[in-house]
Amino acid sequence: MTRTLPDVALEASTCTKCRLAGGRTQVVFGVGHPAADLMFIGEAPGFHEDKQGEPFVGSAGQLLTTLLGGIGLSRDQVYIANVLKCRPPGNRDPMPDEIEACKPWLKEQIDLIDPRVIATLGNFSTQLLLGKKVGISRVRGQRFDWRGRVLIPTFHPAAILRAGSAGLTMQQIEQDFLLIRKTLDEAPSAPEEDPGEQLGLF
Ligand code: URA
Repeated sequence: MTRTLPDVALEASTCTKCRLAGGRTQVVFGVGHPAADLMFIGEAPGFHEDKQGEPFVGSAGQLLTTLLGGIGLSRDQVYIANVLKCRPPGNRDPMPDEIEACKPWLKEQIDLIDPRVIATLGNFSTQLLLGKKVGISRVRGQRFDWRGRVLIPTFHPAAILRAGSAGLTMQQIEQDFLLIRKTLDEAPSAPEEDPGEQLGLF
């Protein structure tokens, strides 16, 4: 029998595949529409997310909600997840072995939700899906064909909020959200031949 998203979330809720299990309040699996056309992938839960069990509920989350509203979408029309499902201590960067351990949860989420468009927020999710160490500033606002889906990397909302983030502007992230809207509005293209080369780490 095929697993459903709630099955996977339940299994993930007791995950002990990496050291972060020891410090979490709870696993922050993901939130939103289980068959969303648009999926966001951030980095990792922070303080508020760890407490509430929901991704993007702190200040970065408020900006994400506002940006979504700007393109006529609410949080329950999309799906929101992170590369890591548990909070790293002190909100430090995810470590490579933690990303590796957590990757199967994200892969299953993407497979089950089956979104047409994936928006990666910031360096970690963008590099994970593209499978290369490329800076977000170089790839943001572009569309990539990712396993038959459209991948649109954009800045992490927290980076926009951080005062003095050189070169990052609200206008740029707003532009990227307009591209997301445009892409969603385009008729889904006919399935393409598998190009052979698989983008990304999955
Ligand atoms: N930043 C993230 O990357 N994810 C969250 O859930 C919250 C903040």
